[in-house]
Amino acid sequence: MSDFDQYEDRELFDILDRELERQNTTIQLIASENFTSPAVMAAQGSVLTNKYSEGYPGKRYYGGNSVVDEAEELARERGKALFGAEHANVQPHSGANANLAAYLALFQPGDTLLGMRLDQGGHLTHGSPVNISGRFYRFVSYGVTESDERLDYDEIRDLAKAERPKAIIAGATAYPRIIDPQPLRDICDEVGALLIFDAAHIAGLIAGGAHPNPVPLADVMTFTTHKTLRGPRSGTIVCKAEHAKAIDKAVFPGLQGGPLMHVVAAKAVAFREAAQPSFRDYAAAVVANAQALAKALAGEGFRLVSGGTDNHLMLVDLRPFDAELTGKVAQDVLDRAGITLNKNTIPNDPRSPFVTSGLRIGTPAVTTAGMREAEMAEIASLIGRALRNRSDDAALAEIRDSATNLCSKFPPYH
Ligand SMILES: *Cc1c(COP(=O)(O)O)cnc(C)c1O
Repeated sequence: MSDFDQYEDRELFDILDRELERQNTTIQLIASENFTSPAVMAAQGSVLTNKYSEGYPGKRYYGGNSVVDEAEELARERGKALFGAEHANVQPHSGANANLAAYLALFQPGDTLLGMRLDQGGHLTHGSPVNISGRFYRFVSYGVTESDERLDYDEIRDLAKAERPKAIIAGATAYPRIIDPQPLRDICDEVGALLIFDAAHIAGLIAGGAHPNPVPLADVMTFTTHKTLRGPRSGTIVCKAEHAKAIDKAVFPGLQGGPLMHVVAAKAVAFREAAQPSFRDYAAAVVANAQALAKALAGEGFRLVSGGTDNHLMLVDLRPFDAELTGKVAQDVLDRAGITLNKNTIPNDPRSPFVTSGLRIGTPAVTTAGMREAEMAEIASLIGRALRNRSDDAALAEIRDSATNLCSKFPPYH
């Protein structure tokens, strides 16, 4: 009998059971979340968690790595093939670490970098003063235009010419439109900057052919593997061969210690899944669902930032629906109605990031669960009803029942 036969942790596993119940019975609309496959979870819950493998395949610090070397090699090869990349590093523990490693590999503290404004959709790791990126590097921000709430590549070019950055960091966490890598590459060439494309949110849309692939144009692409890509919670870097050595050294030993080999294995599984023809259908359905949901929400009286979406998410301006309603209150009300999403600032939001005038809504998870356009119309109607009846507990309870009923037809896990 092994030592752990004596342990039984009902306390913790009851919590897991309740979280499974929550995921199965409420509507998941957080744009950065998804339901990963049982195969990904099996790899992530495997014996590979036991192995120390500091270093890279064939160059490890400890013995016993010949088998896990194969797992990492498989993940690297599949990651490269998925995006047509020259090199892949599958060890970053998260998207934030992938970005940090890319910066560590290519820049010196104090270097000037361009990144998207946080309050207009950029990420903390693109120069927030409370993040290491903003403390170690001199980030200058670009934003969206006032008129159409989209990136204006001419404005970015002017800023790049004035600031002469070492790199442009592209990518966003709350931007509903395609980010076109070609004009960004052109600007970088004009000013002698590198192009780092952070595809954290849209990696799955790129893999599925729904968005342009920045890899042929970018020096480095970083991404998370758990958002639209639908894999384990983690990060990856792909890059040109000329940056491979610097990137690998920055991830280990520069930034991290031993890799999470069970997660590396799960990334290999996810990359294979994302290379299947059915994943192309999935990526297209994610976008079609987002567009259907955006249209139905406009019909409920909400305003869509930039007028709609061409990716997996939308930003909703609550003010035309109800000038008094904040993102904070809307998030709480919808939580009670069985609809999970997050408050978000909208461009030029008069309210603080803790209150906000907007919501961010995404379709990756509901699409994985099997919902399509008809269900998006139903969800928009539930959101409108809940927010109109937000001080009516009985109405909210009724909406929660409707949400549960809808989910019961599309359980992600049986
Ligand atoms: C989510 C996200 C990240 C960070 O990913 P974590 O895995 O949470 O660290 C980085 N960049 C962008 C644009 C993101 O949306």
